[in-house]
Amino acid sequence: MRNISLIAALITIIFLALTGCQSESSESLDGGELNKSTNEKQDKEDINVISDNDEDSQEEDEEEESDSSQDEEDQTSSNEDSDNNEHTTEDQSNDDQSNNNESNDEQANNDQSNNESQNENNQGDDSDVTVVSNPSAIDVVVNKRRKLPDGYTPPNLTEPNVRFSFDEQNMKRNMRPVAANALEELFAGANKAGVDLFAVSGYRSYDRQVAVFNSHVESKGREEAEKVSAIPGHSEHQTGLAMDVTSQAVGFYLTTDFESTTEGQWVAENAHKYGFIIRYPKGKSEITGYSFEPWHLRYIGKDLATKIHESGLTVEEYLGLVE
Ligand SMILES: [Zn+2]
Repeated sequence: MRNISLIAALITIIFLALTGCQSESSESLDGGELNKSTNEKQDKEDINVISDNDEDSQEEDEEEESDSSQDEEDQTSSNEDSDNNEHTTEDQSNDDQSNNNESNDEQANNDQSNNESQNENNQGDDSDVTVVSNPSAIDVVVNKRRKLPDGYTPPNLTEPNVRFSFDEQNMKRNMRPVAANALEELFAGANKAGVDLFAVSGYRSYDRQVAVFNSHVESKGREEAEKVSAIPGHSEHQTGLAMDVTSQAVGFYLTTDFESTTEGQWVAENAHKYGFIIRYPKGKSEITGYSFEPWHLRYIGKDLATKIHESGLTVEEYLGLVE
């Protein structure tokens, strides 16, 4: 009997010890969860602080709550970009002369780039990545598989005379002259239609993209970095042919809500008349590599923009660049 009660006592002790352990471990699990979500939160904050990149945030396709994070992201973008003021644009002195030159070059560029797909060099190390041979062509295509040559800078950059969503000087105000002129016309056309647009982000230098991308790599490793940040050389903003636009209705953010605003609708219906396309259309992320960006306008020339618009295809599809 004594043995039995001893055994019973032992069992009780073991039981208590075990349940004690379990509750301890579940506590530490909770603690772990807490830490995890704190980390996640920090990661998100890091993203918001570091990337100003609508393209960057694109790659978070999986996260459907991206609207608000994009909002925050772009809100922080101007602060963040101003860090880079020392990179101010090489050549601000381009004026009418260079505008004309560039417009005249447009046809030549287009002709030249017809040969592009045949002339590309495959990079040895990155099997899937092609360096484009015509980085200054008006119809150049960069995406996740096609990059600009290392260190590429557009031939001329100038600030379009349009309203921006921020006041400070910043190189992201700039575009190539041919695109800047077209953007001014687009804004004027919108204005006539009673539509108030604001420009948010145009040119982004290779160096700036390197800095942004590297800080992502440092904080979360390369694999994760690639999900939230464009690899340098792959951002369309580096061509000087892209401008993100927004409106007061969406709080001047870059958000997919822009699509359903008067301004977003006007842009979708009319941008091609001024030579711009919505570069990353809805439901085409498999092809473009980026999810829907109703705010990202890419200058590609009136003729091509109109054809692409009417075809309902992406640039990749229209130019036969889909593998
Ligand atoms: Zn953009």
